[in-house]
This record gives sequence, C-alpha cells and structure tokens, in this order.
Amino acid sequence: MLENFSYFRWQDFVDILVVAFIINQLISIIRGTRSVQMVAGLGVLTIVYFLAGALDLAALSWVMQTFLSSILLIVIIVFQHDIRRALTRVGKSPFHTSTDVADKELEEIIRTLFYLSKRRIGALVVIERETGLGDFIESGFLLDATLTKELLISIFMPVSPLHDGAVLISEGRIKHAGCILPLTQNPYINKRYGTRHRAAIGLTEETDAIVLVVSEETQEISIVRHGALTTVENEITLTNNLKAIFIDQSGHRSAWKNWITK
Ligand code: ATP
Ligand code: MG
Repeated sequence: MLENFSYFRWQDFVDILVVAFIINQLISIIRGTRSVQMVAGLGVLTIVYFLAGALDLAALSWVMQTFLSSILLIVIIVFQHDIRRALTRVGKSPFHTSTDVADKELEEIIRTLFYLSKRRIGALVVIERETGLGDFIESGFLLDATLTKELLISIFMPVSPLHDGAVLISEGRIKHAGCILPLTQNPYINKRYGTRHRAAIGLTEETDAIVLVVSEETQEISIVRHGALTTVENEITLTNNLKAIFIDQSGHRSAWKNWITK
C-alpha cells in the first residue's frame, strides 16, 4: 500500500489541487440556483444507468446509454447560463477591481427608495456586479449620468416618461432607465407579487445583480439576490444588508459606519 505513494509525484498533488479548485468554483456558481436540482437529476440518472448494467436489465441499459451518449449536448443546453457565468469568471483578471457602487452612491439609492416608498411610488433599481447584464436586459434609455437621489427620484416619478421599468446602475452611474427585465418562471412565487417583483427575481436567478424594489401597493422595500426576495423593515436593516453584500466582500469601506451612525 505504502509503495503506491512512492509513485505520487508533485504533479499529482498540483493536479488534485487544481481539480478541487475547479469543483469548488463550479459548486459556488450553481449553489442556490435551479441548477442544483438539475445536477441532482443527472446524478440520479447516472446511478440508474449503472444499476441497470449491474442488474443486467438490457432494455433499460440501452435507453440510459442512448440518453447519456448525448450528455455533453444536454449539459450545454441545460447549464448554458451557468457555463456563461463560469466563463465570465475565468476570463476575469485576478487583479479585477470591483465595479460595485461606492458608499456615496449606495447612500443616494437608499434615501431614494425610502423617499419613494413614503409616497407610494414604485421603483426597480438594478445594481450590476460582475455579470454583464447586456444579454438579460432590454435596455430602455441610455443616460450614463451621475447617480444622485434627485435624479433617481425624478426618473421614478409617475409623470416621468422614464418611470416604467428598471433603472440600471453600473460602475456607480445611472446607465439606463426604463429597462425591461426577464420575468421569473418560478411557479412557487407568492401570488401577491406582481410583475415588478417577478422581474427582479427573474434577473437575479440568472445573474449576480442586486435588485432593489419599492412596492407602490404595500410600500415595502425589498432586496432581491440570487432569485430570493428579502423585505427590509427600515433604513438600518437595508443599510446593513447592503453593507453585508457590498462592503464586507471588499473589506474596508469605513465611510459606511460613519453614515449609519450619523
Ligand atoms: P407593486 O407592489 O409596486 O404593485 P407588483 O410586483 O405588484 O409591484 P405590478 O403592479 O405589476 O407589480 O407593477 C407594474 C410595474 O412594474 C410596471 O409599471 C413596470 O414599471 C414594472 N415592470 C413590470 N414588468 C417589468 C419588467 N419585465 N421589467 C421591468 N419592469 C417591469
Ligand atoms: Mg401591483
């Protein structure tokens, strides 16, 4: 047994580390998405295939073999969004600096949301992160403007021609307004949520974007991330939630603390 280890070269060690890293990355990409169930489904089918072979069930074995021979094609079709996300990550420079919004802009967004909520004005704000949203969003009107509370409020005012749809924030600027997002197809979403909330959930199922929603009906403010919607009670909760998303990951945005305790 021990002599087997004498064949263990340093290349094998590196090999195992690289494969472990790739598997870890793949798990982190699909975690919390519908793909987890699909992977489980493929796993079950593979087990059925081996059982059919072991028990000598010729017909079942043939069906499974035919199915699994197209597995590469099936995997590409089923996991196309995850593959796209994975390749985006691989293509990204390790020295990539975050394009997330800075404290100042987050502050403007939070104040806008509460201003609108108090006045029962609906809003949908998408914050682009690492995944480019070009493929997912039908962009409405190009603005590329400095992000200020006043401009955001003006956009969502019901009299504004831009108020319908979502505002897209990218690299700390208001890039587009009036964007149409993909609606979720999840049949288990609570019936009380209409298209605004379904659009927020739909986009975040496919991308790493953070979407903020103000309901004109209930005045609720929600953070939507990875297809899950969290309603926030007050400004502090929203601030803390966004802080956890945007700041803790990049480490050192102390200005937040000053603002929260102000
Ligand atoms: P609310 O709680 O504010 O009523 P809701 O979830 O009930 O929201 P609706 O009442 O259907 O949703 O909201 C309609 C508004 O949502 C539209 O006027 C439009 O501004 C926005 N909206 C609807 N669908 C989309 C979409 N696919 N992409 C972006 N915005 C959308
Ligand atoms: Mg509604």
